[in-house]
Amino acid sequence: MVEYGFEQKSFKTSSSRFIFTFLFLIFLAAWAIFLSPNLAGLLPPGFHKDLLVDFINVGQGDSILIRTPAGKTFLVDGGTVVPLAQAKSEGRELVHYYLRNLGIDYLDGVVVTHPHNDHLGGILPVLKLFKIKQVWDCGADFNTMTFKDYVALCRQKRIPVTVVKSGDVLDWGAELFVQVLHPTEVVKSTEFSDINNMSISLLIRYGKVNLLLAGDIEEKVEIELTRYGDKLKCQIIKVPHHGSDTSIYKPFLKLVAPVWGIIQVGRKNVFKHPRPEMLDLYSKSGIKIYRNDHQGNIRLAVGGCDARDFSFTVDREL
Ligand SMILES: [Zn+2]
Repeated sequence: MVEYGFEQKSFKTSSSRFIFTFLFLIFLAAWAIFLSPNLAGLLPPGFHKDLLVDFINVGQGDSILIRTPAGKTFLVDGGTVVPLAQAKSEGRELVHYYLRNLGIDYLDGVVVTHPHNDHLGGILPVLKLFKIKQVWDCGADFNTMTFKDYVALCRQKRIPVTVVKSGDVLDWGAELFVQVLHPTEVVKSTEFSDINNMSISLLIRYGKVNLLLAGDIEEKVEIELTRYGDKLKCQIIKVPHHGSDTSIYKPFLKLVAPVWGIIQVGRKNVFKHPRPEMLDLYSKSGIKIYRNDHQGNIRLAVGGCDARDFSFTVDREL
């Protein structure tokens, strides 16, 4: 009897220990899963909790990498191309190396806002080295070697090129809303300002957070864009034209009413961007600024649950 009782007791003990251990392991697994950024590998590769937008420090020029929560990857402009040694000595990125370092070898789409070298140049090695599903551009023609190479590369690699115009909505996945605000029409011109004013401007919405990528538009287009009224309201703006004083139309900025402005600009650039007039207007409007020449690479992570659900990480704080 004693033996039987002992056996019973020990049976109950091991059973409860087993249940306790089992529950503890489940708790541990759940804890590990929710703490890890990709839910312990349960999510598909490339999945991010947030929309990630990298304003890449390409020196004087624009380059913006967008990675969606569903794992799609888009590039808006590519900065210029210089030899690697020069890029290193200037402390700036070459976009194709930047993508490689992030393990990216495929892009769901590339936007060429306009064909000036500080936007298109860095796209060429990307077209050469990466698999690209499609390209969107503004339809402007440009008489440069870079532009001719771009057209030839797209043709050679059979990458479909679509000319976009205001009102178009780009399909970047169901969780994102991407609208083309500008240009309204293709303008055949070689004038510097006319080409800037052809810049594709995009409004990107993820949840409750809006982002405006304004290319190199100048005041003429800022005036045109005010027709969108309140719909321009964005928490974050990629400051038009590297912070030039050609692009500081106050009513436009008032409608956008951003909390943050990102200036894609190179250190000691010959254009003296950003201009004091621009910095003054943004500062007086209470808009906070990040700029590539001061902060290096700037990464925006958008949760989108509410209007303030976004944050920045930067390479350096100056
Ligand atoms: Zn530019």
